Amino acid sequence: MQNTAAAGTVDRAAASLAELVRFRTVSSRTEADVETAEFEGFLSALPRLYPAVHAALVLERVNGDALLYRWPGSSPDAASRPAVLMAHYDVVPAGDPEQWTRPPFSGHNDGTHLWGRGTLDDKGQLVAILEAAEALLGAGFVPAHDLYFSFGNNEETAGGSAAAAADLLAGRGVRPWLVLDEGGAVAGGAFPGVRRPAAVVGVAEKGILDVELLTRGTGGHASTPPRMGATARLARAIVRIERGPFPQLLPAVTAEMLRRIGPHTPGPLRAVLAHVPLLRVPLTWLLGRLGAETNAMTRTTVAITMLEGSAGANVLATTARANANIRIAIGDTVAGTLERLRRIIRDSKVELRVLEANEPSPVSSYSGPQWQLLERCIALTYPEAVITPYIMMGGTDARRFTGICDAVYRFAPFFMDVDARASLHAVDEKIALETLGRGVSFYETLIRKL
Ligand SMILES: [Zn+2]
Repeated sequence: MQNTAAAGTVDRAAASLAELVRFRTVSSRTEADVETAEFEGFLSALPRLYPAVHAALVLERVNGDALLYRWPGSSPDAASRPAVLMAHYDVVPAGDPEQWTRPPFSGHNDGTHLWGRGTLDDKGQLVAILEAAEALLGAGFVPAHDLYFSFGNNEETAGGSAAAAADLLAGRGVRPWLVLDEGGAVAGGAFPGVRRPAAVVGVAEKGILDVELLTRGTGGHASTPPRMGATARLARAIVRIERGPFPQLLPAVTAEMLRRIGPHTPGPLRAVLAHVPLLRVPLTWLLGRLGAETNAMTRTTVAITMLEGSAGANVLATTARANANIRIAIGDTVAGTLERLRRIIRDSKVELRVLEANEPSPVSSYSGPQWQLLERCIALTYPEAVITPYIMMGGTDARRFTGICDAVYRFAPFFMDVDARASLHAVDEKIALETLGRGVSFYETLIRKL
């Protein structure tokens, strides 16, 4: 039977989310830009909105403004099988408010949708978790095993709070049986021709590597340019990177995704996808050419950002630099990626400096008991969805927990159509009230089964 939230649940969740969206909790790498009062306001609203949660759970602040709740389990082995439900309440900037149909921090409820920055990413998820807990506490429920909620305050700027929370748990000997964070969703229109929504659950995320490319020149006046000055050398390196993509591979997770989606695709594609193992090579080739998104599924990608060179119209650059933002495919490593980058550039005068390096995450099982539990809960909440593992292209806070947990998953229990996904980090972000209700149901179901 399908779980649908009662109207009262949806109204309550929507009212709480509307209030929480109004706090402009925009995170920034520049500390002076963070509106501290907005974060404090957000945090002080929670005990009022969720009194039962704040009476029954142990709450501590982590790394300043991140939150870690512990809901003590009742069984004698309560600490032996803990789970962590994650979300973050910081948001990206709203951009030009004039571009929004409804003001970005209004929390406007139009009867079908709740509008505003953070409704989908990721205050909606935080609210769904807390609403579920509040309702379960109201019904006298006590979990069998310890349950943690870890809510980040700087996910969007890849800040240190999630790592601090994971360290804190590690120091107490907590080894979560399951970690669930944002990432995938119940996606409509994600696969061409597939009419059923796809519940895509992230089992891994690509690595992120930022490398500065630096070239040097003699400088001087632009009237007497040398051959292969700093800017020309940098440009040649960039063109070589553009022309020399990393090799393609089809990770086992992506093959599994195609196998699961296959039966739901129309006509000839279905026949092709029924033979994924046999057709690995041509399929990989095809994915590489279908578009930027499917291409990124099959290889390590490099984007050149932050170009910089000469400071004046008639001034030769003494240095030129660019950032290579690299997303490392599962199966590759930071060291291997750097080595290949050097080979692609093949110019010892281009200096490479690693600014930040994160290895790709380990791959969580998509057949073990934790996966099966998630599948059951998703199927109860979204019976129409095809459920599949996938590899996330972006990074999440969840990566910080892979050191203390083997079963880390990335999934928000919300339906997102193409428009909804396009609104993430863009204008007109909004959540359908119906899916907010289903999100609460999902967490109620999951918490009861943990
Ligand atoms: Zn997010």
